[in-house]
Amino acid sequence: MKENTAWALVASASRIVGFTGAGISTESGIPDFRSQNGLWRQHPIPDLQDFADSEEARAGLWRLAFELWPTVRDAQPNAGHDAFVELHRQGRLDVVITQNIDSLHQRSGLPADKVLELHGAATEAACLHCDDRIAADEAYRRVKEGEQAPRCLRPRCGGPLKPDVILFGEDLPPDVMKRAEAAVKQCDLLLAVGSSLEVWPANELPRVAREAGARLIVVNRDDGPLDDIADAVLHDEIGAVLPALVRRAEGGA
Ligand code: NAD
Repeated sequence: MKENTAWALVASASRIVGFTGAGISTESGIPDFRSQNGLWRQHPIPDLQDFADSEEARAGLWRLAFELWPTVRDAQPNAGHDAFVELHRQGRLDVVITQNIDSLHQRSGLPADKVLELHGAATEAACLHCDDRIAADEAYRRVKEGEQAPRCLRPRCGGPLKPDVILFGEDLPPDVMKRAEAAVKQCDLLLAVGSSLEVWPANELPRVAREAGARLIVVNRDDGPLDDIADAVLHDEIGAVLPALVRRAEGGA
């Protein structure tokens, strides 16, 4: 029942905010977090405090990131990412707020200023002490050469480098969060795609949009916490339903 209304909601919207999670990138070959084969189920991932305190935790995260990097670096955007580009082309997209760190929205063709990355990007590593950044490829070259947990090379620093992604216990970038909060309060439709909506505080944004009067569509194969308050829920594969939804909304039938 709820599925039938989705295309009409998209068709009547003029200021859409996308809210995406790891599920939109599984069809590009990047595992998500909480599914059966998700990263969180398979690997211990340190929180910020552990990472700051423990050489072992740092080495563990770098080992995992090193294994994943070729998959993330070489992944190609899929039909789900393209659907947001199509919404942009139709002039209906305000921004995409993403929890993803794979930069696939930008690589699918969305302008950088249309993508708000809440959880950072895997393309860089940042020093915990001085915030100096180096390219991920450079960090992984050093890991490959034997540095288990690379450190900042700036003179008199030597702080631990961290893949530039947000860990549990770490604040989200305030400027990005501020833009995201403003966007969800002003949109007329929030399209939540491929997220379990379990990671706080990002998961509050779709609810804020709904409370500010926007319509809400959820696209995800599993049940989720906002299904009950959503105007439409599509429990299906993203690549199968999202492009069709956007096409049908433009065609109007
Ligand atoms: P999540 O793993 O908690 O939830 C993903 C959801 O998408 C699940 O409910 C899953 O059933 C669904 N899903 C997966 N593939 C799908 C498909 N093809 N079609 C329909 N549904 C599908 O992810 P989350 O909510 O983004 O939270 C996890 C955190 O992990 C985020 O903070 C994110 O930064 C990080 N993460 C990012 C990536 C990435 O950048 N690609 C990958 C893994 C984890």
